Amino acid sequence: MKRTAIITGGSRGIGAATARLAAREGYDVCISYASDQVAAKSVVDDCRAIGVNAIHVQADVADPAQVRDLFSRCDEELGGVTLLVNNAGIIGQASRLAELGDDVLKRTFAVNVFGSIYCSQEAIARMAKSAGGAGGSIVNISSIAATLGSPGEYIHYASSKGAVETLTIGLAKEVGAEGIRVNAIRAGTTDTDIHATSGNPDRPAAYAKAAPLGRVGKPDDIAEAVVWLASDKASFTTGAVLSVAGGV
Ligand code: NAP
Repeated sequence: MKRTAIITGGSRGIGAATARLAAREGYDVCISYASDQVAAKSVVDDCRAIGVNAIHVQADVADPAQVRDLFSRCDEELGGVTLLVNNAGIIGQASRLAELGDDVLKRTFAVNVFGSIYCSQEAIARMAKSAGGAGGSIVNISSIAATLGSPGEYIHYASSKGAVETLTIGLAKEVGAEGIRVNAIRAGTTDTDIHATSGNPDRPAAYAKAAPLGRVGKPDDIAEAVVWLASDKASFTTGAVLSVAGGV
């Protein structure tokens, strides 16, 4: 069966590693990105060099119209999606909750939670057996922050990832009969740009010290888990939240 993956936020970090690994596994790949077109094109070039079809689409996941365009582009240029990875996410600037700005709060939930919901709605419309689809898989990228709570810096972000995990559990039950599996990865701190861009470049080093495995994650650590959850090897796994966090 032809397999086509939409990976949101596939231009950098965990999403880029997932796109490249999905390509090596034989998926055609559609990545979305927010603004870094150069990075997005480089990931697409890598996927094409592997031998699959690949496209990049600029689409803010927080905007339902842009999400609709993203899925339409994938329909037209690659065919219907069979794997959705809800990876696009932001932390927002560190802040104690009492001082948290409304703009950061709203944007964090708009991207991390609403974006995952908008993309899931579009994916289900194409995958659901009752709509003529062939089933599929959705993998949501949560964070260990959902269980730690991130006091003093990122409670808004941790809360948004808690919502992503609840979305995973509910949606898995709702669409299991449609042939769609829904799972999440609870990722530990991973070596990507997200820490520096949110004003906390020292976070990975501090996490590595506290982690039982003594290191932060690599984007490929998370990508491997995504591809396994999406595969037929995980055909009896749905509604699961898999911790990939070095033991934290
Ligand atoms: P990253 O390196 O900052 O990359 C973020 C990606 O998301 C980029 O491709 C970015 O596009 C895209 N993006 C951001 N806002 C978007 C929007 N509104 N619409 C569409 N795309 C958007 O982040 P990362 O560390 O790989 O994180 C990926 C996911 O893993 C996130 O959900 C994050 O919460 C989660 N996570 C990360 C860690 C960690 O330690 N890194 C730990 C746990 C969970 P541009 O390139 O165009 O900016």
